[in-house]
Amino acid sequence: MNNVIDKVCSHKRLPFEEGINLIKSHDLIGLGTAADRFCQKLHPEQYRTYVIDRNINYTNVCISGCKFCAFYRDKGNKEGYLLSKEELFKKIEETISLGGTQILMQGGLHPDLKIDYYIDLLRSIKERFTIHIHSFSPPEIIHFSQLNNLPIKEVLILLKDAGLDTIPGGGAEILTDRCRGILSPHKCSASEWLQVMKEAHKLGIKSTSTMMFGHIETLEERIIHLEKIRQLQDETGGFTAFIPWTFQPKNTALSVSSEKRTSFKIGGFDYLRTLAVSRLFLDNIPNIQASWVTQGSKIAQLALKFGANDLGSTMIEENVVRAAGVDYRLKKEEMISLIIDLGFEAMQRDCYYNVRI
Ligand code: SF4
Repeated sequence: MNNVIDKVCSHKRLPFEEGINLIKSHDLIGLGTAADRFCQKLHPEQYRTYVIDRNINYTNVCISGCKFCAFYRDKGNKEGYLLSKEELFKKIEETISLGGTQILMQGGLHPDLKIDYYIDLLRSIKERFTIHIHSFSPPEIIHFSQLNNLPIKEVLILLKDAGLDTIPGGGAEILTDRCRGILSPHKCSASEWLQVMKEAHKLGIKSTSTMMFGHIETLEERIIHLEKIRQLQDETGGFTAFIPWTFQPKNTALSVSSEKRTSFKIGGFDYLRTLAVSRLFLDNIPNIQASWVTQGSKIAQLALKFGANDLGSTMIEENVVRAAGVDYRLKKEEMISLIIDLGFEAMQRDCYYNVRI
């Protein structure tokens, strides 16, 4: 693994084939050591970060029907909901009172809400609150574009003008059309996901990037995914971070239809291996975020020694992963303690990864 450390630390890019070799490796300690060395080179500062925010899922009504999703409900289902503005404002007030600086607002692909609804929502929030709006992942943007017969760029301009600050990297799952055709045939394609991010970055809207793994993808497809993210970042520089997280099977159509349910359980080994390879391979993405929401606090803490430099959000509220039967909770004080245990100072950051003094 020494040659990998030498390569990445001297700014030599890992080729695709080397990524494939690394993701197949069982030398977890070697991978972790290499990723940690590279992380320390990129982040020599003596602190690691977290953010205080809230996930607000404005609706669970969705026409996409992704097989890995336990959160959505069809239109007309009695469990379907759409938050009122008052409910949403209350959640934002609570977030601010807890020291929160941003909201991550995402929802299902609602068949009836036209673009004016979202424009009004963003304006109403910005009129009332000083808060960063990190909202609408690429599948939502593509949905708005199709539903309103507007080009993607036009949708993004309208949302930005109304108050959208940055875009979350959700809905990427695995960026190959083979995976997407099986898991989410009604959702945007891999190239559409990338196109939204490209247009957003060109308009000055930064975004995160994600990968949901541990379902039907091959190890090669994880590297294909990373390669696509790396290529776009070379072009635009608009990704602030990469967040790999693991598929949670409970209550999803994928779990129910599979005879090999246990094969969907990703353990700490594969999570940390994939995280470390992500850090090494994505040499142009500044920040890698640990996922305590899917891995729990113990593995998330270790992730900060396997290439991650950020512990993510306190997530005052989270609904999507919880619907799939995983309900880890982490208070701000616990996050700080996890970081301090590792010998770092814990610093609260904003959506652009600037620390708050
Ligand atoms: S993942 Fe998103 S787009 Fe897919 S069904 Fe769930 S809410 Fe809808």
